[in-house]
Amino acid sequence: MGDPLKGIDILTSNERPRNWRYTSSAGPVRSKFLLYLRDQQKIMGTECSTCGRVYVPARSVCLECYEDMGKWVEVSKRGVLETYTIVYQQSPIFRWDSPFAIGVIKLDGADTGLVHRLGEVDFKQIRVGMRLEAVFAELPKGDIRDIDYFRPVGMA
Ligand SMILES: [Zn+2]
Repeated sequence: MGDPLKGIDILTSNERPRNWRYTSSAGPVRSKFLLYLRDQQKIMGTECSTCGRVYVPARSVCLECYEDMGKWVEVSKRGVLETYTIVYQQSPIFRWDSPFAIGVIKLDGADTGLVHRLGEVDFKQIRVGMRLEAVFAELPKGDIRDIDYFRPVGMA
């Protein structure tokens, strides 16, 4: 056997064209998760029938036991900030204008964290452990941005 990569140009992120256009399928589980968000403003997870872990966003297979997820469960729109960062660099990867704050929010009733943007908060006020709540987009489109952002609880 020779080198399987021989003769293949390996692209780095700096060499990759920025104007690639493509679509990808969300798959049945992620689609159902997004439809709950879009049509009912419900944040749903899937619960492992073996270990009981609740995944948000919903997954089809448990990462701990590799079992199919048993059932859908609604989790709270509120949760706790587990970690965060402030993004100052504008990048085509992100759909928000910089600077913005992004964090991992563990919703009440979930065992995993959801990555999302933080809003209605001074960056200097952001703390790990703070309580946050989802703010839904006015015009839902069927993607994760149907949650517009998470804000500190009590801002309404
Ligand atoms: Zn499990």
